Amino acid sequence: MSVTNATGTTTASGELPWQTELARAVRDPAELLRCLELPPDLLDAAERGARLFPLRVPRPYLGRIRPGDPHDPLLRQVLPLAAEARRLPGFTGDPLQEKAQCSGSGVLHKYAGRALVVATGACAINCRYCFRRAFPYTDHAGWRPALEYLERHGAPEEIVLSGGDPLLLDDTALAAFIRRLEQLNGVKRLRIHTRLPVVIPTRATPALTELLGSSRLQNILVLHINHPREIDTKVVAALTRLRPACSALLNQAVLLRGVNADVTTLAQLSEQLFAAGVLPYYLHLLDPVEGAAHFDVDEKTGRQLWSALHHRLPGYLVPRLAREEPGTAAKRIIA
Ligand code: SF4
Repeated sequence: MSVTNATGTTTASGELPWQTELARAVRDPAELLRCLELPPDLLDAAERGARLFPLRVPRPYLGRIRPGDPHDPLLRQVLPLAAEARRLPGFTGDPLQEKAQCSGSGVLHKYAGRALVVATGACAINCRYCFRRAFPYTDHAGWRPALEYLERHGAPEEIVLSGGDPLLLDDTALAAFIRRLEQLNGVKRLRIHTRLPVVIPTRATPALTELLGSSRLQNILVLHINHPREIDTKVVAALTRLRPACSALLNQAVLLRGVNADVTTLAQLSEQLFAAGVLPYYLHLLDPVEGAAHFDVDEKTGRQLWSALHHRLPGYLVPRLAREEPGTAAKRIIA
């Protein structure tokens, strides 16, 4: 049974619905610092950074950040720092040159046999290292023109739904997209890249699990979790709800200085992912996007960390170390 309170209707578990959580996400740097008891001298840089790429932190994620710790690895992913203003050679606004690959209809032909649909430009959380932080979504995003494009040009076996975060589409819109996709000859799999069930676990609604579970397509959910502390009991419960509806739950992490660039953290991440029914899939080196150079871990260090992880864990818990390179037909697998 659900009950109502001042902030909206709660779910049966007492959590707020995902749309309510989206609406009450923290967007003001001063509020973020206040909520987390952080020193006010961080405010100036945070406000300047948020003008370049807005701050957005949903409260279920905020609740996992340690108060009073400016170096908290979850905080580092969302708090704009002065280092974002540094301009370094090789770091650009479109590191994967996606603007050139976009059909203009929201379909990106990055890899053979797959088409990537930019479903929406928005995200529930704004990650400071995001390689699409400057992507011109208003020019490209939207699933309707993308579907029309696939209907006209023929669709590959696998459709990758990306963004922004495609689970920001509500269940009705998502159902309309999936039902039309099911009618396209040749499409066998739908891969959904999302961070939403991690940052707002109530996004794993009964309607979503029913929709995914009833589709003729094989659904693969690719999550994005970088640190073991992102996985709390509510995230585990959300993944437990989603698992029976999906052919696989996989995780992609980004190797980030100040967040997860040590073997103990990476090993704990793999262990906790597996305990939640998720296979570690890729560990990406940072895409060189302007404003995120302070997160960068060089390839040699990445290899050393991967090697240490490989010695510590069974093979199925070791993600592949990879780098995206513009204009290539596949990721470059480093290890
Ligand atoms: S959730 Fe993904 S697409 Fe959205 S800001 Fe974070 S990294 Fe970028």
